[in-house]
Amino acid sequence: VLRRERRVRLTPLEPWIAGKIGAHGPRPLDRRLLEAWQLERLNETLSLVRSRSRFHRRHLAAAPTVLAELAEVARLPTTTDDDLRADPASLVCVGQDEVSRIVTLDTSGTSGAPKRVFFTAADQALTVDFFRAGMSVFTGPGDRVLILLPGTTPGSVGDLLASALRELGAVPIPHGPVRDAAEAIRVAAAEAATVAVGIPVQLLRMARTPTDLPRPQVHSVLLSTDHVPRAIAAALETAWGCRVYNHFGMTETGLGGGVDCAARRGLHLREADLLFEVIERDGDAPVREGDEGELTVTTLTRQAMPFLRYRTGDLARWLPGPCPCGTTLRTLAYVTTRVRGRHPLPGGGVLTQARLDEALFPVPGVVAFQAVLDLRAPLPSLDIAVEAVGGIDADRVAGEIRAALVADGLGRLRITVTCLHDRLPPGGLSKRGIDLVG
Ligand SMILES: [Zn+2]
Repeated sequence: VLRRERRVRLTPLEPWIAGKIGAHGPRPLDRRLLEAWQLERLNETLSLVRSRSRFHRRHLAAAPTVLAELAEVARLPTTTDDDLRADPASLVCVGQDEVSRIVTLDTSGTSGAPKRVFFTAADQALTVDFFRAGMSVFTGPGDRVLILLPGTTPGSVGDLLASALRELGAVPIPHGPVRDAAEAIRVAAAEAATVAVGIPVQLLRMARTPTDLPRPQVHSVLLSTDHVPRAIAAALETAWGCRVYNHFGMTETGLGGGVDCAARRGLHLREADLLFEVIERDGDAPVREGDEGELTVTTLTRQAMPFLRYRTGDLARWLPGPCPCGTTLRTLAYVTTRVRGRHPLPGGGVLTQARLDEALFPVPGVVAFQAVLDLRAPLPSLDIAVEAVGGIDADRVAGEIRAALVADGLGRLRITVTCLHDRLPPGGLSKRGIDLVG
C-alpha cells in the first residue's frame, strides 16, 4: 500500500518550504511547525505595516496588535483592490530607494485609477525562488524552456522565470506572448524546446493553427496568467503528447502563487510566503473547509507592499483530504471564476466564462470566442462570435457549438453562433469575456 501511495512524486514545494522555515525533521512536514512559522511572520508583517504604511495605520485602528493563533487572522479587516487603487503609495512600507520594481495594472473596463504594486529586490528574489521550486515539478537540468510570457522588462514575469530556470540548470528561451502562432511553433522547433510556459488560449492557438512544421517536442506545458480550461489542457495534451500543469498567481501575490504537483488535481501554494484563506463572498469570515468562497491572500515575507487579507476577486475552494503526492501542504482547487464573473440566468443556473470555455474549446478548430449575454425580456439571448482555424466548415462548427451549449443546459436562451473564420479582424479575436446587456 505504501508503495502505491508513493508512486506520485512528492511536490518539491514541500521540501522547499521545510527548508525555508528551518524544519529539518523527518518527512512529512509537520503542519504545526509551518503554522507556527506563518503566525510569527504574520505578526511581524502586522508590526511592519502599522509602523510604515499610512493606509494600514488607519485600516487596522480597531484590529488586534498581536495575534495569538493563526485563526485570529480572521479578526483583521479585509483589503480590496479599491484600497489599492485609491492611494497605492499609502500601502508602501519601504523608502523609494529600496523599491526595485513597480508594476502598474490597468485593468480594462474599470473607470478607476490603475493598481500599482511595489517590490523590493528581496521581494523579487522570493518570487524567483518559488519559480525555481515550482518549475522543478516538471523541469530539470538540460530542459529548454520556451517562455511565452512578457519578459523584456527586468523584473517582469518572463525575466524572473528565466533567472529561476538558469538556477535549475535549464535553458530559458525568452519569446514573449504569442502574436503569430506559426512563428512561435517555428521557434519551438528551431530552439528544440522541451517545455513551454504560456497563456492558455495562446497555446491552444499554437496547437490548432495548421502548419507544415512538426509539432513541438515538449514533454510539459505550464499554463499561467489566465484560468486554465480543462478543455484547453486536454486539447494541448492530445495535440503535442505532453503533460499540462496549472499555475495560479497574480501581481499582488508576487506573480507566483501556487502550482500543480505530479498528481495534477489542484494547486499547492507558497505557504511559507503567503497565507491564503477562502472567505464569504459577501462577508469577511472564512467559509467551511471545502465550500466555495472568495480567495484572499496575506503576504508573510513581503517588504515593499505587504497585503493583509487582500480579496483577490477569484472564487476558490480547498480540496479536502490528502493529495496523492503525500504532502502535508494544502491543495486549492483550480481557480476558474471571478466573483464578478457569475451571471445568474432567468429560471436558474449561472453563466460563467469557465462554463463557456468547457463547452466551446472541445470543438475542433475553435481558438477564441466572444459572448454577449442579453437578459432583457421577453427572450434572453446568448450571441457568440467564434474564431476557428484549420480549414474548418463554419456551419459544422456553429452547429457543434450550439449542440454543446444546449447539452450544457443553456437551451432556454436564444443562441446565435457566428463563425468568423473568414471575416476576422487582423490578429483574430483577442478580447475574452462575457459582455452583459440588460
Ligand atoms: Zn500534491
